[in-house]
Amino acid sequence: MQLIDTHSHLSTDNFKSDLDLAIQRAKEAGVTKIFNPNTDSTTIDRIAEISEQYPDTIYPLMGLDPGAVRDNFEQELQIVEQHLRSRKYYGIGEIGIDLYWEDNIKYKTQQIQVFEHQVKLAKELTLPIIIHSRNSFDEVFSVIDKHNDEKLFGIFHCFTGNLSQAQKIIEYGGFKMGIGGVLTYKNSPLPQVVKNIALEHLVLETDSPYLPPVPKRGKRNESAFLLFTANKLADIHEVTLDEVAQITTKNAIEVYRL
Ligand SMILES: [Zn+2]
Repeated sequence: MQLIDTHSHLSTDNFKSDLDLAIQRAKEAGVTKIFNPNTDSTTIDRIAEISEQYPDTIYPLMGLDPGAVRDNFEQELQIVEQHLRSRKYYGIGEIGIDLYWEDNIKYKTQQIQVFEHQVKLAKELTLPIIIHSRNSFDEVFSVIDKHNDEKLFGIFHCFTGNLSQAQKIIEYGGFKMGIGGVLTYKNSPLPQVVKNIALEHLVLETDSPYLPPVPKRGKRNESAFLLFTANKLADIHEVTLDEVAQITTKNAIEVYRL
């Protein structure tokens, strides 16, 4: 069985002391590939370092995270673009719009501008986009509506939307939805929504160190815990774990063009 963690922040300090063990535990859980999104100019070196250290396991992404969009965004965007043009990355992420945190809402206009720039860049470079859309589906959709065609593809990371939002994403044609620990949370409406989405539209992710699945809530999340989400998805769709692994892995390989 092979699983792919399509989104894990392995370059954060949370993994500084035990990255090697975390990778080992991931492999024991069947997680063979982990995609590592960028945040801003301060995280680029660490991402390069660990993807060179684990070339067959850690796959680097490059982008300017909406939560990092501040007054110096033009300069930050330029750095990200330079890196995207100068070495191999597997996608542009994470990018998007965050209208959840007060500090980010203040930069809404700039966030939209930064997102749109990176969407255009993705089409030019034929790379998937990994989208953060917390409290911002309408704003994200209006950017995608403007640019969507056969050259645009990617993942709506940490999808927690409703069925009509899922349907809109499916209709775009090139997008998958990333499903993580939230699927296992008590009282979450997500299982009911996900039950009505065919597995061919889904990929798995941890978003570690954040959002650990049940029964690991309160702990640091890591790729090995993907198994809990995969099992939950198998329950919801009434299929075997192997089937979930097979389909979601195929989807991840397809969207990241491995
Ligand atoms: Zn993330």
